[in-house]
Amino acid sequence: MRNPRPKQLYNLRTNEVKHLRRGDTRHMAERPEGISRRRVLQYLLGVVVAAIAARIGYGILTHRRDAAVLPEEPPDTAGLSEERATPGPSEGTELADLILLNGKIHTVDPADSVVDAVAIKGGKIIATGSSSALEQLRGPATMQMDLKGKTVTPGFVDSHLHLHYYGKQFQDTFIDIRYPAVKTREDLLEKVTEKVATTRPGDWIAGNQGFVCSDPPDRWALDELAPNHPVFLLHASGQYAVVNSRALSLAGITKDTPNPYSAVIGKDASTGEPTGFLYHYPAIDLVRPLVPGYGVVTEEEQKGFIRTGAAKCFEAGYTSVQDVIIATPQHVKLYIDLAEEGNLPLNVFMLLYVQSREDARAKLDLADHLKGEHYHFAGWKLAVDGGGAAGTILMYDQSVSISRNSYPYHAQDTLNEMVSMFHQQGYQVAFHAVGDRAVDMALDAIEYAMTKDPRPNPRHRLEHVIFSTAEALARIKKLGVIVSTSPQWISMFGAQYEGANEVQMERFMPLKEMLDQGISLAFGCDVPATPLLEPKWALIGATTRWTIDRKPVGAEQCISMREAVRAHTMGSAYAAFEEHSRGSIEPGKLADMVVWSHDLYTAPIDELLTMKPEVTIVEGTVVFKAHDSALQMPA
Ligand SMILES: [Zn+2]
Repeated sequence: MRNPRPKQLYNLRTNEVKHLRRGDTRHMAERPEGISRRRVLQYLLGVVVAAIAARIGYGILTHRRDAAVLPEEPPDTAGLSEERATPGPSEGTELADLILLNGKIHTVDPADSVVDAVAIKGGKIIATGSSSALEQLRGPATMQMDLKGKTVTPGFVDSHLHLHYYGKQFQDTFIDIRYPAVKTREDLLEKVTEKVATTRPGDWIAGNQGFVCSDPPDRWALDELAPNHPVFLLHASGQYAVVNSRALSLAGITKDTPNPYSAVIGKDASTGEPTGFLYHYPAIDLVRPLVPGYGVVTEEEQKGFIRTGAAKCFEAGYTSVQDVIIATPQHVKLYIDLAEEGNLPLNVFMLLYVQSREDARAKLDLADHLKGEHYHFAGWKLAVDGGGAAGTILMYDQSVSISRNSYPYHAQDTLNEMVSMFHQQGYQVAFHAVGDRAVDMALDAIEYAMTKDPRPNPRHRLEHVIFSTAEALARIKKLGVIVSTSPQWISMFGAQYEGANEVQMERFMPLKEMLDQGISLAFGCDVPATPLLEPKWALIGATTRWTIDRKPVGAEQCISMREAVRAHTMGSAYAAFEEHSRGSIEPGKLADMVVWSHDLYTAPIDELLTMKPEVTIVEGTVVFKAHDSALQMPA
């Protein structure tokens, strides 16, 4: 049978990654500007063609025998082995559609085996082993790809990002205030001033998500720059926004406006006037829906955001992602429609966000309709606290400035009730919990729900867990809770936290202690709340514990590259109940893989900083190839 898949679906030119000066990490976060609109259009056209082609392919392959016919490999801890292979084909064994050979393939199987070839059929892996042994699976229609010694890993699985919101950041109407375009307050003021000069009075001035400086202008400082334009600026974390007087007035916010549930409208202590600072989503959402590019967007534009995000994920080396804040059932519908149109080649696992008890009840009624093949709705997201920049991290010690504005977003009883309701219905629940007190509140709610309605392996998850007590880690282990976190924070925000939190840094994201406790770790990049998409930043943060100035933060909490890669592949797959189909290169699993420019297991740090995917493969199909890669596409 001729493999109907096209040999090469996309051949996007990537933007040049600015190579970092050796020994200088002050610029380690520099990354290319967003891809151009024309490039996005080219890509999207590619996605449509690819999806149609893939559909046809799947149709023809539907009647295949189950690909997982080969027995399990014995563990191999000896590394590359010429002779090692899954058993060769006997009479009647199916031939491969595609064989990747001559590589250094880190399988992330239980023994961390390294092989040099992998055979794929019908989008799944059917064998791994030596190039010579897998030769036997080659038939006349089998394509092959010579990896020329390059390193391959499983496709990275991102356990925590915001795909829809990330894709939204690249709209031309926004000022680009993301790091590294804007690093300081001065940069931010300059960008606003420039935009005012070219914008009609009365029109909105809005930044994308968002700025990282810790001293943004307030309402009145913005008024000086933009007296005649409404201004909306969101912090990168998404935990707070700042707006000017004109924006407050359009939203009808005055000193008499009450705080929305779980949120705070910043007010001047002496006059009671709104300061322009809006803390937590319900307060931000008093203004955000009015802003073009945020609230004022069409359904087609929103689908475009998701597709832009998906394209960037392939370019970064992710083959599966978990969008952990789907704001509304309408947003779930966007994913469903894209998948049904064949326009969502990226595997997306979704958690639907709930704002309050009433919101939880209303959304739960809709939940049965939210299942599908290339998207998986499986659970719920709740926030217990906020972020360091907003001062809304819920710590036991509220004297530290990361906790200066903190309060629990829900009363413990309310949290217990919501979690119990979801748990009882068989769902997974994930909590935004950054501070040690927030982590304990989430654990209390989980324990309450699990005690009331015991069921095996619910895999509830805590997102972030930047600060936690040793007792909390023991409870996390005991309750089988997953810690899904973003080690990029160590590099990007470690120094800021240190400055804002004098006493807690020895317990800043204690990854080694978590692994030693036997806790299931999952890694994600958390864009757009963090600046950088690529999984290498998690690997660098977790293995070096360096800030961008190469200062160690909790150096004794370093974990190894093997542990970090495993957390970011198998660990993240486990967090989404997908460990049997993704996360490692083993027979029977989906053929999701990345060919890297460097061997991430052995590359020194300066090479790791420039490492990037050369080819990304999803279910046996090339979905991304770097324009400067010398690799030939399967033929
Ligand atoms: Zn997030």
